[in-house]
Amino acid sequence: MLQVKHLSFGYTKKYILKDINFTIKSGENIAIIGESGSGKSTLLKLIFGEYDLEQGQIFWKNTEILGPKNNLVVGYDFMKYVTQEFDLMPYTTVENNIGKYLSRFYPEEKQKRTNELLKVVELEAFANVKVKTLSGGQKQRVALARALAKQPEIILLDEPFSHIDNFKKQSLRRSIFRYLKNNSISCLVATHDKNDVLGFADEMMVLNNKTIIAKDKPQNLYKAPKLPLIASFFEEFNVINNKIYYTHELKIVDDSDLKATVKQSYFDGNSWLVEVLYNNQHIFISHHNSLHKGDIIYFTLLK
Ligand code: ADP
Ligand code: MG
Repeated sequence: MLQVKHLSFGYTKKYILKDINFTIKSGENIAIIGESGSGKSTLLKLIFGEYDLEQGQIFWKNTEILGPKNNLVVGYDFMKYVTQEFDLMPYTTVENNIGKYLSRFYPEEKQKRTNELLKVVELEAFANVKVKTLSGGQKQRVALARALAKQPEIILLDEPFSHIDNFKKQSLRRSIFRYLKNNSISCLVATHDKNDVLGFADEMMVLNNKTIIAKDKPQNLYKAPKLPLIASFFEEFNVINNKIYYTHELKIVDDSDLKATVKQSYFDGNSWLVEVLYNNQHIFISHHNSLHKGDIIYFTLLK
């Protein structure tokens, strides 16, 4: 398993991460979330051994992950890292990119494995296409397949579906995470997309102000977000009397003590998001239809 102990790091004198501690068990899927610039990518790079730690230690099983000062070639066979930049070979085909690290002395096995991975990332039709002609999302899928080619024990994914369009995203996500679980590959995913987390992560960690401020099952953090920052990762919310309410935790009713004026209604797919003014505060309530600006409404708190 992965152990991160008292990790601290800064690119300059200023700390980016301070006293980070966590473990990931074999086959576990852990998400790391946080605002842009909170240090998610930096943490993945440190775990991959790209930089020297200021303080702390990182272990995969009994192997200590060392930075460039103590390790000539960055990276280990048991660990793969899919960066936000992909690092592919542009003038080479999809198939050859995926098979890059597979031994050419076993051509049949190499082909079989490549085909299997082409299927996981749904790129069978593009096997012989040069990577430079692909879209950003397709390149991201090639990078994922290549990282999996030599079956790592742990994979670090940096916003792995960020370039993939909504048409493909859901099925690809399920395909990748199912593959990792079925093969007991540990996984650390940095993301700002709740859909990468909710149905898949065993636990999620919230990175804020240099450190991990929460670590729990996604269900628990969703149901009882202790901070607006955590709630905001999941959904639109309101703070009323110092309590956090998602928009569906407020209900428009015929009568109540809470009276507000409608400002605007936004179509939100399955429901409407109604913006109302209550005690000079803008409140957002999920409702089954749209309401007119200026209407007076009453609402209750559902918890
Ligand atoms: P995230 O992935 O959560 O968006 P990053 O880890 O990329 O955050 O960045 C964390 C902080 O470190 C940011 O303030 C960013 O500007 C800074 N940073 C990232 N990479 C470098 C670098 N190579 N040199 C100096 N500062 C960096
Ligand atoms: Mg990042």
